[in-house]
Amino acid sequence: MTQPFVHQPLPTRVIFGTGTLTQLGAELERIGARRALVLSTPGRAEAQARAIAASIGERSAGVFAGAVMHTPVEVTESALTVVRERAADALVAFGGGSVTGLGKALALRTDLPQIVLPTTYAGSEMTPVLGEVAAGTKTTRKDPRIQPEIVIYDVELTLSLPAGVSATSGMNAIAHAVEALYARERSPLTSLMAEQGIASLAETLPRIIDRPQDREARAGALYGAWLCGSCLGMVGMALHHKLCHVLGGTFNLPHAETHTIVLPHAAAYNTPAAEPAMARAARALGTADAAGGLYDLAGRLGARQALRDLGMPESGIEETVRRTMADPYWNPRPLEAEALRELLAKAWHGERPSLAG
Ligand code: NAD
Repeated sequence: MTQPFVHQPLPTRVIFGTGTLTQLGAELERIGARRALVLSTPGRAEAQARAIAASIGERSAGVFAGAVMHTPVEVTESALTVVRERAADALVAFGGGSVTGLGKALALRTDLPQIVLPTTYAGSEMTPVLGEVAAGTKTTRKDPRIQPEIVIYDVELTLSLPAGVSATSGMNAIAHAVEALYARERSPLTSLMAEQGIASLAETLPRIIDRPQDREARAGALYGAWLCGSCLGMVGMALHHKLCHVLGGTFNLPHAETHTIVLPHAAAYNTPAAEPAMARAARALGTADAAGGLYDLAGRLGARQALRDLGMPESGIEETVRRTMADPYWNPRPLEAEALRELLAKAWHGERPSLAG
């Protein structure tokens, strides 16, 4: 029998396709924006951002190309000055989660509308969540002003994403969906989206590793990323995201790679307490068990599989357990210090996850 549920859809307008970047001007017109500031990271992306700004002609307020990882408030303050000086009335975030984060931080402070042009599979564009760093401390908040108004997915913008980054970014997206399958706030619709998101990424990421310019595979991966990001926006996350948050914050580990390594182990930990959810994840992966399937997928993609290879000290396992248990997220399986130690030891060594827990 269908279980009772609450489903809260996201208000974001989504445009998906190939060559959809050409619709940016029309979308700005639709929301009545006259002076949009284009945000990007420095370097090669900046040149593309300038071309995008040029393509919208008089509706452009220029480019701010200072986005960096983890959304430090100092960068947001500098961007805010530019927003005010140029009287910008809309934000166009062109990039991965780092640029989306800057757009969100600015929208939180100004309530300006955001149009996101994602270039990775991180999924941040579909969520009302923002992580920021101030004085070395990361805080996360949720606010309706943070949720982007419009997302334009253009497959063309993802073709330059290097194969290795595509792999870990895609595994980061899969992590959202795996945790969405057992989330307390899940609905039949979020579960359908999560399962389809995992299936789409599991099928296309290996093809992208083999042929990064395969447009059909790129389209499937971006579609999966949209589904997984949408799940992240609609339900709460659990142990896996908590561990990655602690590991990233404490040892300054790279975001997507940390997710890639931890996910199979977090899945194994939760499998006994969330069997129907993990059976759906396994079905989407086309494997017998989800944890093993995720480990094998990461291996097939050539991703690093051991936390020690990211520079985490082995002595950090104890601190990670302590911090995780001190301020836990809800999780389908209660947190047990000894089992978490084992989980992290396996992830640190890069061993295959064991379902015994
Ligand atoms: P990122 O935005 O830092 O990009 C990773 C690297 O890839 C960068 O060097 C970037 O310049 C490069 N890159 C991006 N797109 C490219 C392209 N198409 N071609 C060539 N190079 C490209 O990484 P990310 O994984 O997308 O985002 C990570 C950040 O997003 C973290 O700070 C994380 O906390 C945040 N995040 C937030 C949410 C949320 O809901 N708030 C969700 C997921 C991730």
